[in-house]
Amino acid sequence: MGLLTPTAALSKVTEITPQMLKEMGIDAILLDVDNTLAPPIEQTPYEGVQEWIDTIKKSGFAVVICSNNFHKRILPFSSSVGLDCVAMSFKPFPFGFNRAKKKLHEKPKAVVVVGDQIYTDVLGANLAGMQSILLEPRSEEKGFTIWLRRKMEIKIRKRLYGQKKQNRG
Ligand SMILES: [Mg+2]
Repeated sequence: MGLLTPTAALSKVTEITPQMLKEMGIDAILLDVDNTLAPPIEQTPYEGVQEWIDTIKKSGFAVVICSNNFHKRILPFSSSVGLDCVAMSFKPFPFGFNRAKKKLHEKPKAVVVVGDQIYTDVLGANLAGMQSILLEPRSEEKGFTIWLRRKMEIKIRKRLYGQKKQNRG
């Protein structure tokens, strides 16, 4: 419940369908990169991600990348998959989301934030009055702050995804 609960929880970004987004009333998507579209550091997206982006764009949704990572990581990735981007977005604070919304040609009616972290992507979306789709992290991550955030996520993920996946992420 509350600020740490996403609108929906799925495993992979490629499970999000145009039909599902239409049912959620969504017309714009703000996409996380690391562990959502590609492994951290790597420029090559996960399997099927490029095709998914193309399908979503063709279906008429506005899509902007919104990442907390640095420009030098996010800019080349975004241009390689054909998307506009905001780097250093400081999720869960609203600055990056606001910058991303300005990049959309039309004012969005309803925005969904898609990402793998509860304390940045989901919390940020809820603070900004946006919907959110939480995904499961797909690659190993290093560092203390991410370790701490993942530890804090365990209980919430257990409730969202059920018992069998509690050891993942
Ligand atoms: Mg991420």
